[in-house]
Amino acid sequence: MSQAEHPCLACGACCAAYRVDFSVYETDACGGRLPASLTVEVAGATVRMRGTDHVPVRCIALTGTVGQRAACGVYEWRPNPCRELEPGSYGCEKARARHGLPPLPAGLVL
Ligand code: SF4
Ligand code: SF4
Repeated sequence: MSQAEHPCLACGACCAAYRVDFSVYETDACGGRLPASLTVEVAGATVRMRGTDHVPVRCIALTGTVGQRAACGVYEWRPNPCRELEPGSYGCEKARARHGLPPLPAGLVL
């Protein structure tokens, strides 16, 4: 991996580790931009990224192979939990560990 490349592009572990729950108002059905077809209802005004509600977890929007080459197919419209999980954070390290990946080297954390 080149030093200039974003570390998430060779990872994707957090997209295959956690439930991704967020407000239905982030979907295009309720005024947001994320396609509602990529979500499942949870309760009340909460929805979940399809694929993150069962094991093995893998968000429907994730493309590629975890730990090798990965990308979010709805990056511009990804919901808040995805925007908030930062490379190098505890959640990042935990997700990577679940996939047998080491923590990001300090120099790669943006
Ligand atoms: S935030 Fe961490 S776990 Fe998620 S894709 Fe980036 S490097 Fe991987
Ligand atoms: S919406 Fe994108 S960033 Fe969020 S879990 Fe799915 S693939 Fe990952």
